[in-house]
Amino acid sequence: MTSSLQTFLHERLAERRAQQLYRSHKTLAAAPGPVAEVDGRELVTFSSNDYLGLATHPDVIAAQQRGAGLGAGATASHLVNGHFAIHQQLQDKIAEMTGRDAALLFGSGYMANVGVINALVGRGDFVVQDRLNHASLIDGGRLSGAQYVRFGHNDLDGLERQLQRARNRSDGKILLAVDGVYSMDGDTAPLAEMARLSERYDAWLMVDEAHGFGVMGSEVFPVAGSAAAAGLNQNSAPIVMGTLGKAAGNGGAFVAGSRELIDYLTQFARTYIYTTGMPPAVAAGSLAALELMQRAPLRQTLQSRIDYFRARADALGLPLENSRSAIQPLVLGCEETVLAVAQSLQQQGFLVGAIRPPTVPAGTARLRITLSAAHSEQQIEGLLAALAATLQDIHKPVSTGEDE
Ligand SMILES: *Cc1c(COP(=O)(O)O)cnc(C)c1O
Repeated sequence: MTSSLQTFLHERLAERRAQQLYRSHKTLAAAPGPVAEVDGRELVTFSSNDYLGLATHPDVIAAQQRGAGLGAGATASHLVNGHFAIHQQLQDKIAEMTGRDAALLFGSGYMANVGVINALVGRGDFVVQDRLNHASLIDGGRLSGAQYVRFGHNDLDGLERQLQRARNRSDGKILLAVDGVYSMDGDTAPLAEMARLSERYDAWLMVDEAHGFGVMGSEVFPVAGSAAAAGLNQNSAPIVMGTLGKAAGNGGAFVAGSRELIDYLTQFARTYIYTTGMPPAVAAGSLAALELMQRAPLRQTLQSRIDYFRARADALGLPLENSRSAIQPLVLGCEETVLAVAQSLQQQGFLVGAIRPPTVPAGTARLRITLSAAHSEQQIEGLLAALAATLQDIHKPVSTGEDE
């Protein structure tokens, strides 16, 4: 007998399939380095967030193996007995690299965003967000009970109108939360202007550095992220969140800021308090990855790969977006086209993300090509040649069967 649960699940899944929105895993044998084995075939991967190639770096793996000697797990939450010296060292390293007083580790970026927003604002407050913010910021904002307000992507006039309205209606707290680098577009937020608006309306600026940390920065803090690149410090960008699962090649996340902010989050961020501490091996591997970020010229190599990709793609007439980051989307619009192109690329030996709604707005389905310092120019050239040929095939008018 079919239960109503089974009927519900079946109908929703069928609907997803019909909309070309059904998603499935690809099972990899190991982390792409950047070549991955999928179903026994080797594919050059342009879909990972391992921008610096640190997930497969031998020094990182060795440190992580040594870290496992401290115990397979943290055995409790950080505030009970799950906070080890290696966690503290990692937090201190993050604080040093981001130019902040202190940092706090979280299990993931999703948990960090949900925890921070909910610790800082609630009923009667406002949370103001860019329309294209990452789902974890959106979910954090919606869960908080604060009035949720959106503005158009990178639209400073729209943002100012929303801040003005919020300020007129309340003298309470306003949290402005944005991605530093947009995860599906690769463009950056105008953070310097946003910091000025935050000051004018007494809003608190929170920057999500998931794709900025390790990839961009200032002269003094070369890998701190997009806030540093925009010239912002702890006063102008007081709440910085970053993940260890992207450029750091590992997993977990952090929030960095003033001593008081970190102390406050330690007391009030529920996704920090009510969860098991980061496994010590992850902290040890992440620390090794961060030391490599500081020491090795990985960021410069990544930049040269980005420049190479853009120059070659431009020469081939591919429709590039306004992105200077490691994320280089090719917006194709329709879900079916994106799936067909991604499938064709896979047949030609390349793994590229096919990103569809609801991850991106309707009508903007895209290939999300991500670059890494570990890619060779030949691999990039190979991808672009395959892409140009595939797109040409797709745009060819369908034969009517008549000879001309
Ligand atoms: C990936 C991502 C997150 C979530 O980080 P995880 O550590 O993967 O949970 C948050 N914000 C942005 C912008 C991201 O791209």
